[in-house]
Amino acid sequence: MKIALLFGGKSAEYEVSLMSAKSIYENIDKKIHDVYLIGIDNKGEFHYFDGDIKSVADGSWINNVSDAEVVFCSSQKKPGIYSSDINIVFDLVFPVLHGPFGEDGKLQGLLEISNLAYVGCPVLASAVAMDKDIAKKLFAFEGINQVPHLTVCSWNNIEKSMIDIEEKLGYPCFVKPANMGSSVGISKAKNRDNLKKAIENAFLYDHKLVVEKGINAREIEVSILGNSEDIKVSCTGEIIPSDEFYDYDAKYKSNESKLIIPSDISIDDENEIKKMAQKAYKTINGEGLCRIDFFIDKDTNEIFLNEVNSMPGFTTISMYPKLWEKSGISYKELVERLICLAVERKERED
Ligand code: ADP
Ligand code: MG
Ligand code: MG
Repeated sequence: MKIALLFGGKSAEYEVSLMSAKSIYENIDKKIHDVYLIGIDNKGEFHYFDGDIKSVADGSWINNVSDAEVVFCSSQKKPGIYSSDINIVFDLVFPVLHGPFGEDGKLQGLLEISNLAYVGCPVLASAVAMDKDIAKKLFAFEGINQVPHLTVCSWNNIEKSMIDIEEKLGYPCFVKPANMGSSVGISKAKNRDNLKKAIENAFLYDHKLVVEKGINAREIEVSILGNSEDIKVSCTGEIIPSDEFYDYDAKYKSNESKLIIPSDISIDDENEIKKMAQKAYKTINGEGLCRIDFFIDKDTNEIFLNEVNSMPGFTTISMYPKLWEKSGISYKELVERLICLAVERKERED
């Protein structure tokens, strides 16, 4: 198959995507697939890159893009790459993009309209997973336990919202842009002053925020693989962040955050988390893959669903593939299964 591997993107998670894309590129079986690198720059423009994958990882790819045209939606040409001497038509797209525009259903909409098979969650599931506010409303409707939270929009009275937060959630609380990932824009607020700054900072990324009661939490994650008709759940893993919480630096800059796989939790908790993860995946109509994240309250042992990620970090040392490795599916096999799942879903829908 001719696979377009999409990376980069117009989001604050651009760099994370470059790292994930390198690992995936290196692990796609080149004996059965031809892989074409399509980079999306931070203005949202698509470029064909025919250089070394190392330049993708270090970000220098952008200085050496081909001037061939990348086409997705056209009445004249099939989705592919075109120039005077290139004529490549894509069979499938592997979007390795995190955050808004790439992971939130917008790009998935373009791929649907282009009539292409693509890896990962379709439009609705991607959009719901990205929007922590809407996701929480759906999970609440399904009776899935979540941390107490409130939604704040930029057009609300912020003074009044802060009083509401103090009365209903108290301190510490976590302030998050509704649509983002990799902890970008997230702060832990311990007092009114912190809270005001946290809200201002989060509004740099989204006009809608989710504020949550802060939990003294163990962070447990689980991977899902499969389309609706056959959903597989991995073992669970635990994150021990190097910082006070699992912020951007603790995720990508520090070597001190630890992943414990499998996690050392009770069988009952493990089973409960797996059950909740399946339910969350079905709630958003997930297809392909998701990583689903939980908190276990260290004080009360209560389990909370934190969030679902439709395109989780995908380097060879990321939690999503590591959980599958421990559950018997190697990184290489995982990549091939995701490609097959994309083809199966397209066939089901055609
Ligand atoms: P993202 O989608 O950016 O990963 P998360 O909701 O997972 O956003 O939050 C990022 C991190 O912030 C979590 O992994 C955790 O360390 C911390 N965190 C978020 N919400 C809470 C909470 N309610 N209580 C305690 N820690 C939290
Ligand atoms: Mg997330
Ligand atoms: Mg998270």
